[in-house]
Amino acid sequence: MSLLIKGATIVTAMDEYRADVLIEAGKIVAIGDNMESRATDVVDARGRYLLPGGVDQHTHFALPFGGTFTRGFETTTAAAVGGTTTIVDFAPQISGLGLIDSVLKHEEEQAKGKSAVDYSFHGIVMDVSQRLFDEIPMLPDNGIPTVKLFMAYKGTPFMVDDGTLYRYLSDARAHGITVMVHAENGDLIDVLQKACVRAGELEPRFHAVSRPPLVEAEATARAMSIAAMAEAPIFVVHVSCREAAAAIRSAYLAGQQAYGETCPHYLTLTVDDLAKPDFEGAKYVCSPALRSKDHLDALWQAVSRGWLQVVGSDHCGFDWRTQKHLGRDDFTKIPNGAPGVQHRMEVMWTYGVETGKITRQKMVDLCCTAPARFNGLFPRKGHIGVGSDADLVVWDPGHRGKMTAADSLEGVDFTPYEGMQQKGRAQKVFLRGNLTVEDGKFIGTLGQGRWVKGDPYGAAYKGL
Ligand SMILES: [Zn+2]
Repeated sequence: MSLLIKGATIVTAMDEYRADVLIEAGKIVAIGDNMESRATDVVDARGRYLLPGGVDQHTHFALPFGGTFTRGFETTTAAAVGGTTTIVDFAPQISGLGLIDSVLKHEEEQAKGKSAVDYSFHGIVMDVSQRLFDEIPMLPDNGIPTVKLFMAYKGTPFMVDDGTLYRYLSDARAHGITVMVHAENGDLIDVLQKACVRAGELEPRFHAVSRPPLVEAEATARAMSIAAMAEAPIFVVHVSCREAAAAIRSAYLAGQQAYGETCPHYLTLTVDDLAKPDFEGAKYVCSPALRSKDHLDALWQAVSRGWLQVVGSDHCGFDWRTQKHLGRDDFTKIPNGAPGVQHRMEVMWTYGVETGKITRQKMVDLCCTAPARFNGLFPRKGHIGVGSDADLVVWDPGHRGKMTAADSLEGVDFTPYEGMQQKGRAQKVFLRGNLTVEDGKFIGTLGQGRWVKGDPYGAAYKGL
């Protein structure tokens, strides 16, 4: 059986052209014209764009928090309808286990047989021990090419000190493991949070007061210095402010392999959202915190010029009523994070492409190709080319609608993008050649997603 997608305008990270795509056994086998005689099925995609399936390198499905979890892999249907066919999920280290066993357990218990899209994993260091250093050489063969360390969250076993970060970077380099960091100064946040609490400043908006841009900027610049000393690549996740983006750019221009990601919410929402009344502000509590409008402009510039290379959702499926309310009387107890896997590509198209802030090619690079490269999945994922997996999105640029939790498959009671205009949508989505979304509706099956193991040395990517 072979499928022909006909008449669309193909968009890749570097090209845009009219051609038909022939799919066999889940792979793209030819791109060209006049292939009707080779096809058993034909999909007419005239007037639409054909994008690579999105790669969301920043999700937290089934993340344990305070005795509860974020929504699990059964809600990855939300990724599919948003045009994302591969997620790279953060598998937290389980107490008493190393990263390899933790990833295997997360896959076995949470993802396997449930995921609607293909998936890969990062390790997250939650409890530093010698064992974590000892297993670094084994990470690549176990499909873990990326590991995240936290410079924030003082008082937890997962905040690492500078020496630990330096040692980890130094050891990881030789094995092609890309170290990702959550860059905020945990000591300063601790002092600022306690000052807010002492002053009775407990509403959600004080989350941003206790995590100002400087705590992120300082930690990001420090991470750049530590990576330079270790002569190792470094990747900063969820960059939210101008100064942090500038620190990564400076390190890159000085010759470091220094890269970063921002998220749709940092490009479209502001600190004012945190001040919404009746605890609505809790919906916007994520770390780093949302910023003022001038930071948004700087971040758009950073993504369009290639100073930040990736847009990931940082999807956390917390419910507002049952989970965010844990911090009803104290913002420090509000679970950090917001849902976003469904709307990532819609936000980037509507507020990036349609406004002229980024090109279609840049959107594909940020949302599909660059994350595939950094996570060792390129060119299997994130690209339309012969030999790549047939993960494809027929994108209808004429669609008009509104983003709303009521239409979301994220399984929670809110979206931070509630009521925002939406232009364009994933009309059809193919996962390895199988039609998974039709007319914006999920028609695939849970469990169709497979574990795709990333290769090491993803940060050897120099960008376009
Ligand atoms: Zn995250």
